[in-house]
Amino acid sequence: MKVDELKSLGVDERILRLLRERGIEELYPPQADALKTEVLKGKNLVLAIPTASGKTLVAEIVMINKILREGGKTVYLVPLKALAEEKYKEFKFWEKLGIRIAMTTGDYDSTEEWLGKYDIIIATSEKFDSLLRHKSPWIKDINLVIADEIHLLGSYDRGATLEMILAHLDDKAQILGLSATVGNAEEVAEWLNADLVMSEWRPVALRKGVFYHGELFWEDGSIERFPTQWDSLVIDALKKGKQALVFVNTRRSAEKEALLLAGKIQRFLTKPEERKLKQLADGLDTTPTNQKLKEALTKGVAFHHAGLGRTERSIIEDAFREGLIKVITATPTLSAGVNLPAYRVIIRDTKRYSNFGWVDIPVLEIQQMMGRAGRPKYDIEGQAIIIAKTEKPEDLMKRYVLGKPEKLFSMLSNEASFRSQVLALITNFGVGNFKELVNFLERTFYYHQRKNLEALEGKAKSIVYFLFENEFIDIDLNDQFMPLPLGIRTSQLYLDPVTAKKFKDAFEKLEKNPNPLGIFQLLASTPDMSSLRVKRKEQEDLLDYAYEMEEYLYQNIPYWEDYKFEKFLGETKTAKLLLDWINEVNDVKILETYEIDTGDLYRILELVDWLMYSLIELYKLFDPKPEVLDFLKKLHIRVKHGVREELLELITLPMIGRKRARALYNAGFKGIDDIVRAKASELLKVEGIGIGVIEKIYQHFGVELPTNEKKKKVKKGTLDEFFK
Ligand code: ADP
Repeated sequence: MKVDELKSLGVDERILRLLRERGIEELYPPQADALKTEVLKGKNLVLAIPTASGKTLVAEIVMINKILREGGKTVYLVPLKALAEEKYKEFKFWEKLGIRIAMTTGDYDSTEEWLGKYDIIIATSEKFDSLLRHKSPWIKDINLVIADEIHLLGSYDRGATLEMILAHLDDKAQILGLSATVGNAEEVAEWLNADLVMSEWRPVALRKGVFYHGELFWEDGSIERFPTQWDSLVIDALKKGKQALVFVNTRRSAEKEALLLAGKIQRFLTKPEERKLKQLADGLDTTPTNQKLKEALTKGVAFHHAGLGRTERSIIEDAFREGLIKVITATPTLSAGVNLPAYRVIIRDTKRYSNFGWVDIPVLEIQQMMGRAGRPKYDIEGQAIIIAKTEKPEDLMKRYVLGKPEKLFSMLSNEASFRSQVLALITNFGVGNFKELVNFLERTFYYHQRKNLEALEGKAKSIVYFLFENEFIDIDLNDQFMPLPLGIRTSQLYLDPVTAKKFKDAFEKLEKNPNPLGIFQLLASTPDMSSLRVKRKEQEDLLDYAYEMEEYLYQNIPYWEDYKFEKFLGETKTAKLLLDWINEVNDVKILETYEIDTGDLYRILELVDWLMYSLIELYKLFDPKPEVLDFLKKLHIRVKHGVREELLELITLPMIGRKRARALYNAGFKGIDDIVRAKASELLKVEGIGIGVIEKIYQHFGVELPTNEKKKKVKKGTLDEFFK
């Protein structure tokens, strides 16, 4: 279908003009099918087609048209922050039509009223769920919800959130669900009362095969021969002038394979490429993981996994798209995340280790990895090849190449998410009694799928009882639910009620003995925190440490036979890390000591920031002692920035992080007064302080330094003199 034909379907002329401007003349067949349904007239639609076959474009046409024609707001839900950023950049294009686009992720305790001014709001499901609970005033203006990666309804820890959002909004707004191909897309569409467009069409043909000891069995029955080792597939792709993406099952394998491949493919690089790659590598921070990354990078290979920092990840993604990096070895997080296609995708592992031992990776996931093969505009076909090691190649062919992906199942059955959702229904969404609760639950995918409320009712009952027992809610003589302050706040803070209960139970001990280790251990013990793993060889030292610090803890040390023992050691390890962090142990040392990656450290710090804030907010409900509250607030700032108490003042200045604050302090600038009175030239002598930083600090105090002339002058004067 030509883009012009969209006019007859009611698409605004301005959209067609901009599509042509973007070089899009013709719609892909599934896009045409999708737009020919009644989606442009407001009917719900589930669009289940492979990655990169143009789902986003359909979403763009539908939402922009709706905004231009009817006004109102679109919420675009994504599963990951990185995807929110990607979509934000893509949708900016529509600002040309006066459409205002915003993105919101972290901070779960806010109404974000500023979003009221925007037409499209991109948010993670968790963030949007928290906005619903806060009853942001603009929520009522939403007339379209787009759920990207709606197949994540079936994801164990995040599915329930998305499911509940859709259950809340399905009678208030149009829903457009974008899905990978799953086993039961019909069922999802039925639940949402939506049309379904399903297709296997791809813009670049996909050829799939299984490799076994030098033989590559293609799905059409043909066989191609290579040297025995699978890395010959990578080398072959490079010989063809193409790139490869290798999926493995662990971070360490990704690193190891990257380094091994690096040695073999360096010869394919041109001199200018080598220079550019070296520049890229030199620009990276020096952490233990980055050392390996740098080595691989200079040879044209990178690994990509959740342990990398954000900067590293985006550098790698950009350099791969540019063609500078030839091979990426990745864990499956990449296949669910950003758009990063390659000519050849190699899947080294089809099993992974879980708590229950080795398990097969689901077909849905492997097919998503395979879907990354083929770069539109560059490749005529993409190739996805699974490596058979001990498995029989024909089994892998049957299961992953020819087989259908699994069905999705509602994850409302996950106790932790369900607990938090039931509380929210009562405290934030006006569900007044058990009957109303059950009525609402009938709108869920869970009910649609199983048609048997009994199990859900049973679970809901035990949760209601838990909430009642622990004073999250009250129940009056007429069986009406009454939200209590603890319940209301817990729900707004987006906490698992079990976390809130742990906090509440610890307040008495905390008041008697407020101290960082005890508090960190408490935070680490909640279900909202993901604690570090403990290796067997670390157990003894950690236990010794716990006994040494026993007087600071708010809980007893469990016996080793106790099932909680290992978990406790993990919590202790996490608490110890946080203690190092606020005592200004340097980042690299922390990464080495705890054998974690940058990405892990920042995930822990992000969680702790939110939990520390929540701890303070809940403590405020329990007749707080001012000095304890003060202690907690200071500790919160310390853990946010990773500083000792003496830096609390300096850290409030713009562009001053833990390193610069420490350098200033050690040079004798101990507080804001010292900075104000100091000559800029003196400040410039401090490590890490350049004119850019000084400019920002001066601006912070309302002093502008617009021209270079003035910058020169400022070196002589002090901020204090400016004030005069
Ligand atoms: P998906 O969301 O299904 O993963 P995208 O919407 O990101 O896929 O599309 C992948 C790429 O294809 C994007 O770069 C997009 O601009 C481009 N594209 C989508 N539709 C068309 C089309 N009809 N003609 C040309 N390019 C298109």
